[in-house]
Amino acid sequence: MMKKVLSVVVSVYNEEQALPMFVRTVKPILETLPWDYELLFVNDGSADESLSLLKKFAVEDPGVKVISFSRNFGHEAAMIAGIDYASGDAVVCMDADLQHPPEYLPEIVEKLDAGFDVIHMVRTGNHSAGVLKNVTSAGFYWVINRMSDVKLEPGASDFFALSRRSAQVLRENYREKVRFLRGYVQNIGFRRTTIEYEARERVAGESKYSIRKLFAFSMNTILCFSNLPLKLGMFAAGFAACLGVMVMVYTLLTRQGAPSGYATIVILNCFMFAILFLIVGIIGEYMAIMFSEMKDRPVYIVQETENVEGPVR
Ligand code: UDP
Ligand code: MG
Repeated sequence: MMKKVLSVVVSVYNEEQALPMFVRTVKPILETLPWDYELLFVNDGSADESLSLLKKFAVEDPGVKVISFSRNFGHEAAMIAGIDYASGDAVVCMDADLQHPPEYLPEIVEKLDAGFDVIHMVRTGNHSAGVLKNVTSAGFYWVINRMSDVKLEPGASDFFALSRRSAQVLRENYREKVRFLRGYVQNIGFRRTTIEYEARERVAGESKYSIRKLFAFSMNTILCFSNLPLKLGMFAAGFAACLGVMVMVYTLLTRQGAPSGYATIVILNCFMFAILFLIVGIIGEYMAIMFSEMKDRPVYIVQETENVEGPVR
């Protein structure tokens, strides 16, 4: 019987210092696996010697494959490209800095053999990241989980494995330009499991994610997983209308206080604003619908069928 093939996707951005160590550590582990492997590096427009190193590795071992971008497109783009090009029976995404311990690969393969489709590695502690990053990350997950109907697990990392069919869903159905791959991986369904791991220090080089980049990234994620900001207009309309009614009732009941005409102006103001906000809110609702349509996420994802040919359409 042919051995199955594991595609290990590694995004690389200026990792010349970490790469030799990475290959030296990962290859022996891959060789002990019951599966064959392809080690697929995605060079995300590195400005250092990463690409020439990768080319050298590819000459030495045909199992090492390299895709190189024309410029830096970001970590997510690199992972998506890796998933697109991965030809194996399952895909594992990991970082080049050994923060995702390759010692877990055998356990991942066991889970894949046991029939799991999505295996998400969850960090138990990230001491290397520092307090600020850990607190902001916790806050981010708290907010997004309250604002959005998808569930995002705190601590879930960009270290995950996908079976062929679940990878196919990502290739075909989640092609948004503004995206959060980790979120999709957690929300495509299928048989899913998690493995806990302890994040390590990076072996060499430095983190490419600044706090500023992470903030932009979090904003994007909230905007792309939640329509709530678009509905603020409706809330504001409700608030302004209630305020108007309250002032009206108060003036009618007490008939005192401010100079004459004051209440009329305030009440009129409140109602005008209520109408304005309502219209903004309605536009927001339409935008939310258009936004969903544009994202074109799948209405459903079929896991398997019996005696069914496939959709008629
Ligand atoms: N990376 C990338 N493109 C980028 C930034 C990072 O491909 O624009 C890669 C990087 O080489 C590493 C992984 O993504 O393999 C994670 O990046 P990093 O370790 O800097 O992030 P951190 O672990 O600090 O969150
Ligand atoms: Mg890292």
